[in-house]
Amino acid sequence: GLALSQDFDFFYLVQQWPGSFCDTQKSCCYPTTGKPAADFGIHGLWPNYESGSYPSNCDPNNPFNPSEISDLKKSMQTNWPTLACPSNDGTEFWSHEWEKHGTCSEPVLKQHDYFETALQLKAKVDLLGALKAAGVNPDGSSYSLKDIKDAIKAGTGYTPWIQCNTDPSGNSQLYQVYLCIDKTGSDLIECPVFPRGKCASEIEFPSF
Ligand code: 5GP
Ligand code: 5GP
Ligand code: 5GP
Repeated sequence: GLALSQDFDFFYLVQQWPGSFCDTQKSCCYPTTGKPAADFGIHGLWPNYESGSYPSNCDPNNPFNPSEISDLKKSMQTNWPTLACPSNDGTEFWSHEWEKHGTCSEPVLKQHDYFETALQLKAKVDLLGALKAAGVNPDGSSYSLKDIKDAIKAGTGYTPWIQCNTDPSGNSQLYQVYLCIDKTGSDLIECPVFPRGKCASEIEFPSF
């Protein structure tokens, strides 16, 4: 049969700023459970190789099963809200993330552990607190990429990677923050490799 043991080297924990997901040409939809808090939300916990490439969709025979994470659902709605349209309760986002990325974390993390681990990691990493402590606030003003990275490094102890997107006027803005996690899912580590993509040297931090 298929190889059950995927190997990968580390995880990216990817968090998104909802104001930047919404403030684009594509717009967004709030989940059926209501407007999320003005905080970073989980996008995913992504197995990755040190080469920069990554495995995906590792086990088509292991679909997302909401009944396995019913105990986590409330926390998922708060910490891993969906902003895609059409509105739904988040199940579509979580299902996509499990099938594309989560299945590649087995056998290290089974479905319940995968989601629980992502929630525990987010709880350890207060991105918004770290930014606010450095005077970087989601108020629509612009900050230097360096100040943003230094603030997150000061707050978490680790160097983040920032992914930008552009608002409808073409301004580069803070979209996602990548941090690296060891392959057991327990601890932050310095990233073995960073993703690619450009930000301006000054980027906007929109409100939500
Ligand atoms: P984008 O091209 O919009 O940055 O990424 C599209 C999707 O590809 C992401 O949501 C994620 O599922 C996957 N992806 C992009 N970059 C990486 C990466 O560096 N590592 C992993 N594991 N997945 C990625
Ligand atoms: P990835 O980029 O991880 O491969 O895929 C993200 C997928 O999840 C896309 O199909 C996107 O429509 C869906 N999705 C649902 N909710 C969200 C959300 O809040 N943020 C992002 N980035 N994608 C979402
Ligand atoms: P340095 O390593 O000298 O800080 O940056 C090298 C290049 O990578 C510069 O063009 C810088 O703007 C870009 N860069 C550094 N950190 C990040 C980041 O977190 N995100 C993005 N998108 N680019 C970055």
